Parts: sequence; C-alpha cells; structure tokens
Amino acid sequence: MEHQLQIYNTLTRRKEIFKPLNPGHVGMYVCGPTVYGDAHLGHARPAITFDLLFRYLKHLGYKVRYVRNITDVGHLEHDADEGEDKIAKKARLEQLEPMEVAQHYTNRFNAAMEKLGVLRPSIEPHATGHIIEQEQLVSQIMKNGFAYESNGSVYFDVEKYNRTHPYGILSGRNLEDVRDASRELDGVGEKKNQVDFALWKKAQPEHIMRWPSPWSEGFPGWHCECTAMGRKYLGEEFDIHGGGMDLVFPHHECEIAQAVAAQGKPMVKYWMHNNMITINGKKMGKSYNNFITLDQFFTGTHEKLEQAYTPMTIRFFILQAHYRSTVDFSNEALQASKKGLDRLMESLAALQRIEAAADGLTADYAAELERKCYEALDDDMNSPIAISHLFDACRTINQLSDRKQSITAEGLEALRRVFTTFVCDILGLQAEAQGNAEREAAFGAAVNLLLEVRSQAKAAKDWATSDKIRDELAALGFEVKDTKDGATWRLNK
Ligand code: ZN
Repeated sequence: MEHQLQIYNTLTRRKEIFKPLNPGHVGMYVCGPTVYGDAHLGHARPAITFDLLFRYLKHLGYKVRYVRNITDVGHLEHDADEGEDKIAKKARLEQLEPMEVAQHYTNRFNAAMEKLGVLRPSIEPHATGHIIEQEQLVSQIMKNGFAYESNGSVYFDVEKYNRTHPYGILSGRNLEDVRDASRELDGVGEKKNQVDFALWKKAQPEHIMRWPSPWSEGFPGWHCECTAMGRKYLGEEFDIHGGGMDLVFPHHECEIAQAVAAQGKPMVKYWMHNNMITINGKKMGKSYNNFITLDQFFTGTHEKLEQAYTPMTIRFFILQAHYRSTVDFSNEALQASKKGLDRLMESLAALQRIEAAADGLTADYAAELERKCYEALDDDMNSPIAISHLFDACRTINQLSDRKQSITAEGLEALRRVFTTFVCDILGLQAEAQGNAEREAAFGAAVNLLLEVRSQAKAAKDWATSDKIRDELAALGFEVKDTKDGATWRLNK
C-alpha cells in the first residue's frame, strides 16, 4: 500500500508530506524529562505522542534512530538563566549527591514509561555526559561572532543574529515581542541586551554542579544540550525534532538560533509539538503546582482522583485526543477511556475465540479497516479517528462473537492481523494483568455457574453433560472436588 504520511510542521505552520533526508531512515530527537521529580501526566503526553510516531514510522518500514535526552543539569528555576539549578536544589535539600537525585528520578521515569507501554528510545543521552560537546557548540558560535563573553558567562547575541537571520521563526514572535516579555532583572549588568540568552553560566560559589571551561568554572545554558546532542547522534541535519508546545519558545527557538549560528544552516526539517494537558482549563505542570504524578494515577492516591487508573487507561486517554489538541483532565473522561479500552481489549480476546465459517465476511472487510486506519494515521497521526474505526470493528467482532454474523477463515485471519497490528503494535495498547478484585470475582462466579450446571445435569442423570464439564475443566487445569453440598474447585496453574 502506498503511504503518504503527512505531519504538521510547526516551522511552516502547515501539514507537509513526510520525506526523510535519507530515504528509508529517520532521525528523530525529542526533549526528555528534567529529572528532579516524579513524572506527571504532562510528561506522559510527549512520551506517548512520540512513541506513537516512533512505532508508526517503524511499522511503515523506516529505520528510526530515536534520541530522547535526560536533562540532568542546567535547567534553572524561574526561567532559563536565573535561580538555582533544580537538581542541585533537590540534592542540597535532601543531602544527596546531585547525580543520585538524577539517577533516582531517571529510574522512576523509565519505570513509569515502561508501564505506559512507551518503547525505550534508541539513544538516551544525558546532558552531564555531553559537557564537552556543549562547550564545542558555544566555541563555534563565538568564533562565528554570534556570542560574547561577559564576566565568565557566555551569551548569545540575539540582536546581531537577528540582523541576518530571523529570530522568532518558529514561534512567530519578533524581537520586539521578546523584548517586551523578558524580565528586567535577568543577567543584569552582564548582557548586552535583555533578549540575549545564556550559552554558558559562571557558577556561583554555592553552585554544586560545575565543570571547567575556557570561560569559567560553570555549567551550560538551558538550550545547549539538545542542539549539541542532536547534532552528535543525528548529524548536522536531521528529520524530526519534537517536544511539548511549551518548549517552542524559548527552548526550540533558541535551538534553531544556536544551530544556524554554529553551522550556518538549520538542523531540523520538521518541528513537531504536542499540545498540553490542562486541569480546569489551566496547563498541568510543576510550575503551576497543579500536577498529578503518574504513580498517583496508578494508585488513586490524589485528592482529585476518584479511583486508580491503570497505565493503559492513561495511555488510551492520551491517544483518544489528537496530539495537537488540548486534553482536559477529569475523572469522567478517564472513566470513559477505561470503558473504551475495555471494549478494544474484549474484542482482542474475542477475536481469538471466534471460529471461521464456510461463508461470511471476507478479507475485504479487514482490508477496508486497514485502509481507514492508515488514512487516519497518515493524516498527521490522527489517532482518535483511527480509534473510531477500531471501535466500528468492535461492533462487528461482537456480532461475530454472538454468531449474528459469520466470517470466512481467510477473513478471520486478516481481521486478527489488522486489529492486533493497530491496537497492540501501533497504538501500543496491551491487555493488563487482571489482578483486580472485580475480575477475579467475575472469573470465580463463571466457574461456579458451570459447576451448578453440572450438578443440575447430574440430578437429571445427564451424565454426558456432567462428564463433559468435569473433563473440560480438568483439561484447563481446574481441580474439582465433589462435596455433600455441591463442589469445590481450584485452579492448578
Ligand atoms: Zn530540549
């Protein structure tokens, strides 16, 4: 099947047909977490959005090199250039080595991502492991005349850059907008202009994360790491750079300026951004102090949660919205997602039980489902539309399961393949361990019902039915013991 994957490029503000720079290969960089606290729902969204893209590109046959960084240095409080390093602050408060803090939250982030079914990227570079590359980037920018040293720190000369290259090309801002928005106190006395941003910061005496450099003992500016590591692992030009919409300005805008200033040409062909998760209409995030961590969702331990929500429910909740729309958190929405997910999982299980007939639905049915799902995902990864087609298929699967419709062997094989491919491989949804009490209770009730039917059969001297139930249960691993008042059972598996 001929694919024409279209993705929305934030840079050109339109959908474009995806054409990788190197046919058959895709280089993709996504901004990862800053590891100084537990991952929350806001972190799940970019992780799942770009996991869907990663899975889909691989499904389409591309060889994908997916780089997602771990930010373990350099993000300062308040804004990009000011305040205390967030990781260092946590380390100071908890009397830990900063790398202990970073490792602890990296481990917790990865564990949460695994539960969400997010595939590990090809490379997960740490900012602290790439200080030399960041210093090389800063040197290159200085050599080309777009940065200056001041009091041991190095700043990017935005005014000068803007004379020959449009600064604000990604966010659609002009220099005046940026000037108006910048805070008066940032880097006061050091910067030529308020709009300039730090490439290297001289460390204050109390700052514990610090490295030697030609300019001072200090640490790289916020935006350097992604440019430096993107170039190192994906080359001077690569296909996709992604992240949350909140990173468009200043982070990604500054990345573009850094790359152009260093190498004379842009680094990224397609910029992709997922929208935010909101809670009562406000962005959910650490800086807003209104976030719910993923572990709190999984355990139901947050005052705003009416119950626990499984990782797959969270994943499905995020996939049910197009990645460029906002998603508003509510218990009702999550409960609806749980129902939807259950429908898909029940159909997945039912497909294995359905038996083929001599006539009925042919492979054309699955081919049409496949075509529609591809069409949705090729249209800028429209996962909600793809899911609606899969829900239509659930209705058909129910009818097949209830024997209100029949399907040929060829048709069944094709439907199993297409449904599983989209639900499990591409959307990344999996049946979860059914350890919860409700499921266990339903399971037990069903076995008890069978044993009741068996005792009725025995009472009616219908030995064939009674033996059949006993033998088949035994074959499934059930040990049934007859007692005076009926029968007891246990599962020996
Ligand atoms: Zn980044």
